[in-house]
Amino acid sequence: MIVMKFGGSSVANAERIKHVASIIKAYKEKKPVVVLSAMGDTTDHLLDAADQAVKGIVDVEGVAKLHKETAELLNVNIETIQDLLKELNQLLTGISMLKEISKRSRDYLVSFGERMSVRMMAAYLTKEGIPAKFYDAWDIGILSDSNYMAAELLDSVWDDIPKYLTGYKNGTDVEIPIVTGFIAKDVKGNITTLGRGGSDLTATMIGAAMQAEEVQTWKDVDGILTTDPRIVKEAKPVPEVTYEEAQELAMFGAQVLHPRSMVPVRKSGTPVRVKNSYNITSPGSIIVENHTGKEEVYAGSFYGTLKSEVERIWAKGHVIIFDIDVQGGVNLKRIFGDKAFSVFIQAPSVEVLRERLIGRGTDTLEAIEKRVAKAASEMEFAAGKFDHVLINDDLP
Ligand code: ADP
Ligand code: ASP
Ligand code: MG
Repeated sequence: MIVMKFGGSSVANAERIKHVASIIKAYKEKKPVVVLSAMGDTTDHLLDAADQAVKGIVDVEGVAKLHKETAELLNVNIETIQDLLKELNQLLTGISMLKEISKRSRDYLVSFGERMSVRMMAAYLTKEGIPAKFYDAWDIGILSDSNYMAAELLDSVWDDIPKYLTGYKNGTDVEIPIVTGFIAKDVKGNITTLGRGGSDLTATMIGAAMQAEEVQTWKDVDGILTTDPRIVKEAKPVPEVTYEEAQELAMFGAQVLHPRSMVPVRKSGTPVRVKNSYNITSPGSIIVENHTGKEEVYAGSFYGTLKSEVERIWAKGHVIIFDIDVQGGVNLKRIFGDKAFSVFIQAPSVEVLRERLIGRGTDTLEAIEKRVAKAASEMEFAAGKFDHVLINDDLP
């Protein structure tokens, strides 16, 4: 069997859902377990709705409209979705009266996105003659701790997921499981989330626990790219990446995979393929333990990630990694050749870091860039050799 995970952009509307259904159908013989994210930007919209509710405004019209219209276009029964929308409305009404929201309620609130998308897909596949059944993650034993908004999966999932899915693996159950990504429940029965992008982790966890042949994560890019394509349009796919490299990339801010998603598959050795649902003939990237040496290594530059990098790491506060021109980067060097290197600038607090790099907020962008360049050369990393110092000009 295999695990196929489709991200939000892959299931953004009725057309995309039909297309994904055809991809699932093409892999039917491989016994896919399907993991889905919420449709399009639904998670963001739900988080916005939470912020509005705290101000006393209940508004889920956008989310409701998208799901109702999609169900109509797919011609599937929307009762289960309508029930969820009603529950969602009640929750928002409650928040709007209290004018406050806990992390726990926020997780409960965002869970509606994934819960609706799996119902939609299962109904559509079944209607198309491909029997499918939706599962909320906890229905197949996916439990977590109570660290709301960034929950860790419990070790019990290794044994529990196979208990629920063995029938499907050995052929006694024929309905394709369509499972919610991103969400779980704690032992008290409260809904939790695994952090943004958490569907990748749900997928790799299921794949590892089920000893799947491979985990496929279907996205809107041709695999793991040399840099962030939203910043550098020349970004190219890297055909083969190790778990360690993928993890490093994710942790350093390349938004392509959830930072913890490599943990279960590293343990089990399950290969992960990153594929493009918009371009199915593209080979994508394969993530494995060791390089086979068969794939050509693309030596490109990673500088484009800098902008999102700074944004993300800034928010965390302790380390900034400027991938400028790689001599010092560890594993990234292999992927990106000697065109990029990392400057690690550490500071005891975000305030100190900010002062060291950015000054006191009155500097021009050029001045900031100069300071970054100076900091880099002081650290003896290829002094002055880099030709790109990109820096976000609207840091907080
Ligand atoms: P998903 O559909 O699985 O949720 P995401 O939107 O979370 O996908 O992640 C894919 C996006 O990550 C791409 O659309 C791309 O814009 C961005 N991205 C940033 N850095 C990289 C990179 N190095 N390789 C591939 N994609 C990247
Ligand atoms: N829907 C969630 C998010 O937008 C989880 C995911 O897409 O993986 O972060
Ligand atoms: Mg994602």
